[in-house]
Parts: sequence; C-alpha cells; structure tokens
Amino acid sequence: MEIKEPSKEEIDAKYNEILRQAKRGGYFLNPDTEFAKDLVKGLIINGERYGFEACPCRLVMGEKELNLDIVCPCYYRDDDVSEYGACYCGLYVDEETSKGEKPVTAIPERRDLKSRGKTAGASGMPTAAGSLQYPVYRCNVCGYLCARNSPPEKCPVCGADQKRFDLFMR
Ligand code: SF4
Repeated sequence: MEIKEPSKEEIDAKYNEILRQAKRGGYFLNPDTEFAKDLVKGLIINGERYGFEACPCRLVMGEKELNLDIVCPCYYRDDDVSEYGACYCGLYVDEETSKGEKPVTAIPERRDLKSRGKTAGASGMPTAAGSLQYPVYRCNVCGYLCARNSPPEKCPVCGADQKRFDLFMR
C-alpha cells in the first residue's frame, strides 16, 4: 500500500492538536518545533500505515494488540520524561528542557523487545523488510531509530554525527 506524504497543513494541524492536549495535561513538547513536527509527520504516516499512531522511533511488531504500549503517547513516556527529561523520541520533554535550559540526552529503550519476540511468534516480528516506506536508520551511539530517506545530519537525541548512523532495516 502506498502511503502519501502528509501535507504541511496536516502536520501543523496534528502538531497543534498534540500541543493542545499536552498543555491540558501539563506536558511540554520539544522546543525544536521543526524536529517535533518531523516526529508528528512520522505519527501521521504510521497512522496511515498501521491504522494506529505508533511511536515514530520504534518498529511496529505485528498486530495492534502487540503494540498498544507504543501507541503515542506510549506507556513509557511519563517515566522517561521524569527520569531523563524527554520521551524516547524526544517529542515530549520536561519543563526545563522545553525552556531550552537542558539538552535532550540519550534515552535507553524501556520496551522489552526480547520477551515480545518470544511471545509474539511470526506475527510479532518487526515489519517485514521491503514493506517499509522509508529505510530505518539507527544511531550507533544512543540507539535512536528513524525512518527516513537518509540519516539525519545529527542525531536529535544524542547529537551524534550522521556518520554514526547505520542502516537498520530497509
Ligand atoms: S517515545 Fe514519545 S513520540 Fe514515541 S510514542 Fe512515546 S511519547 Fe510518543
């Protein structure tokens, strides 16, 4: 299935909706709006691709039921924001980070992928190679994953250079 690229208007509308919800709930978004909108774009694409807005920094494994923990905002957001100042993707941050008083640092993955792999069976494996709209790149320094045509110039989480990214899945 071909997934169309969301328009700027769609991304802005979704971003504003997330921002409103965040403010209502006492949450803060990454002050780098361009970066945050890139993640929002990933959410929209995942919504089209899977039928649910899966985390744009993680790989979807099988059916929705196996991925409820990573429907944004994921189960891990609050713990990561309070412990590391940002969620795994860096979309949600704590107040200090939102004011630019603290940088976003590398955030370890809390998701238990090993046990998921064991219990999920064939349908629980990561999305089959070749079915992704964009290749997935992985930052070798902090493990950040992103689905896009080429790796970012700098890792948005740990700041590592583009050279530190490897192709993770195509
Ligand atoms: S890590 Fe952040 S962007 Fe990803 S699902 Fe969790 S809250 Fe959403």
